[in-house]
Amino acid sequence: MKILANDGISAKGKELLEDAGFTVITEKVAQEELSKEVNEQAIEIILVRSATTVRKEVIDSCPGIKLIGRGGVGMDNIDVAYAREKGITVINTPASSSQSVAELVMGHLFAISRFLHDSYKNMENGDFSTLKKNYSKGIELRGKTLGIIGFGRIGQSLASYALGCGMNVIAVDKKTDPVVINIPLGNGAEAGISITPVADLHSTLGEMDYISLHVPKQPDGSAVFTSREFAAMKKGVRIVNASRGGVINEDDLLSELENGKIAAVALDVFEHEPNPRKDLLNHPKIACTPHIGAATVEAQDRIGEELADLIIGQFAKV
Ligand code: NAD
Repeated sequence: MKILANDGISAKGKELLEDAGFTVITEKVAQEELSKEVNEQAIEIILVRSATTVRKEVIDSCPGIKLIGRGGVGMDNIDVAYAREKGITVINTPASSSQSVAELVMGHLFAISRFLHDSYKNMENGDFSTLKKNYSKGIELRGKTLGIIGFGRIGQSLASYALGCGMNVIAVDKKTDPVVINIPLGNGAEAGISITPVADLHSTLGEMDYISLHVPKQPDGSAVFTSREFAAMKKGVRIVNASRGGVINEDDLLSELENGKIAAVALDVFEHEPNPRKDLLNHPKIACTPHIGAATVEAQDRIGEELADLIIGQFAKV
């Protein structure tokens, strides 16, 4: 069977599949050429990450597809229900990248507390003593309260890092069962702290110094943070979004940054990917990364291996 891994696959994942008898093609096919290429090469399995989309039109025009695999969590680039209706198996690897996203968020929390993103940009052209003055009002994470909105795999992994840094954590989720967060401390030591998420977002927003969003795209496409939620937050709050573009209303976010309610923001995801609006990218109080939450060597290995295991399990006899 031929597999097109159109957004790449780790060397380990490729090797496992090839050892099991699959042919793995990793040359990237342009989105508009996808159907043609899949049919011409008799490809039966398409693997994507977030770049390639597999919509109804591709599914309809490629009757040979047996499985669509998403390396990562969100499957909004695939028409999942439609594919399954047509008898196509659709799989993803939800747990592989939780730690990678959590670490990126920690990086952003530190960056927006100490203006790292803006000082990098201005070092070359700025006068050193002015720069020192401009960036003299950094704040520390330890002792601050982090609100984690969406306490699933990534939210819980983030809690482990934040607790390990001495932050207080408030979790908000529709599911309110207590969760024990394991905190590996290095040198073999470990701690466990129980956190009970709360369901009511609005009652807790005012207690948070930092907020990180880890909800999926909402079923009705609505934003979780709009001017209504911003109004309930502390003045000077710092916000990170590494979940999905659109869960924060970007117009409302910019106005709250302008009026000083929000001190700083970090965004890994945007409403308009892959071309986010320039006023977000150029804003001195916003640190941006190009949707790289899952992009670590370790996560790619875990994703590749998980996909390979699932595919080999599904098509044991090739
Ligand atoms: P998950 O399903 O394990 O957790 C999501 C949690 O959000 C669930 O517990 C759910 O109950 C909760 N939730 C949903 N809507 C909510 C709301 N309105 N208010 C409060 N809680 C709500 O998912 P996960 O693996 O933790 O991933 C979270 C999101 O992160 C994914 O949907 C994906 O879009 C995003 N993600 C981003 C990257 C990246 O590269 N930046 C990588 C992986 C995943």
